[in-house]
Amino acid sequence: MAKKKATKKKTAKRKKPEPKLAKAPEAERRRAARIYKKLQAKYPDAHCALIHSNPFELVVATALSAQCTDVLVNKVTPGIFAKLPTPQLMAKADLATIESLVNRVNFWRNKAKNLKGMAELLVEKHDGVVPQTMEELIELPGVARKTANVVLGNAFNINHGVVVDTHVGRIAKRLGFTKHDDPKKIERDLMALFPKKNWCMLSHLLIYHGRAVCKARHALCYDDDLCKRYCSNANMIG
Ligand code: SF4
Repeated sequence: MAKKKATKKKTAKRKKPEPKLAKAPEAERRRAARIYKKLQAKYPDAHCALIHSNPFELVVATALSAQCTDVLVNKVTPGIFAKLPTPQLMAKADLATIESLVNRVNFWRNKAKNLKGMAELLVEKHDGVVPQTMEELIELPGVARKTANVVLGNAFNINHGVVVDTHVGRIAKRLGFTKHDDPKKIERDLMALFPKKNWCMLSHLLIYHGRAVCKARHALCYDDDLCKRYCSNANMIG
């Protein structure tokens, strides 16, 4: 018997909506606000460490920064931005050319492939303009939620979420903002604790604190006023 032909049209996959965000208890939010104020006073010039002059450059720099220091990315990107300054030029470039420009960062083969794919999709689908929504950004090769949050917050001033890198995750836990290790859960906890308008800056402040004081190893707990006042680890880690 001939197999019945499938007549149903392929339906587009529905995207799961983000779960509704409940605010953290008021006392916790007040404590978080006090710590935020202290961090702001301590790091008044906190900003995105990746050098860029437009949204496309920031997508490129952030995609390259995965498991790589910002310092190294900032050494590599001037060469890329000089040779392939637009999505159109990057999309047309040979993969070998892109590889030769990024081969000082780790996972460079994969990152070069993603950069080319990202530029191609930007040209095909967005006329070479970096989109301003999480949904569209994470469709780009090499762009996951963290990169999309960096781009939305720093290139477009859109606080869609909180960037959770290793510094942010570590310090959020040490300061008692979260009990989780999973970046997605940490991000939800931070979003519930801090007002939306502060999400992008919060991540810069925590990163600055992570680099200056709350280092992964040998955190300088004893020397810091904020730590002594707000961190229960202040007398334990040193
Ligand atoms: S007390 Fe130590 S662990 Fe706590 S935030 Fe400060 S440096 Fe980090």
